[in-house]
Amino acid sequence: MAYVITDSCIACGTCASVCPTGAISEGDIYKIDPDTCIDCGTCAESCPNEAIVPGE
Ligand code: SF4
Repeated sequence: MAYVITDSCIACGTCASVCPTGAISEGDIYKIDPDTCIDCGTCAESCPNEAIVPGE
């Protein structure tokens, strides 16, 4: 399982700066590479817009 970034993303970049594995890439909305994500949840806790949720 990896975390995913939803349409609520405002592309602020907070998550990418805290991810310990560099799994988050920039864009119009940010994206998490599921193969690099270790499911730590740090990004979800850091997101000011609650845009990051556990994947299925
Ligand atoms: Fe990075 Fe952890 Fe978020 Fe995965 S859960 S994208 S490893 S901060």
